[in-house]
Amino acid sequence: MKCDICSKNIETTFMSKILGTYIKDDKGKKHSICFECQKKFNNDKAKIAEKLNINIK
Ligand SMILES: [Zn+2]
Repeated sequence: MKCDICSKNIETTFMSKILGTYIKDDKGKKHSICFECQKKFNNDKAKIAEKLNINIK
């Protein structure tokens, strides 16, 4: 799984959860964001969506 912002591989935990977050756009497509990018954007989904050039609900 790769980060949609920086293209780095996102680590997963043994529970198969990613170290980061998912953002769903208005078309229902999931975008994976690594922990570092999540932090860089202060976990602000609106800003991340803007960076990815996607619309969120
Ligand atoms: Zn990233």
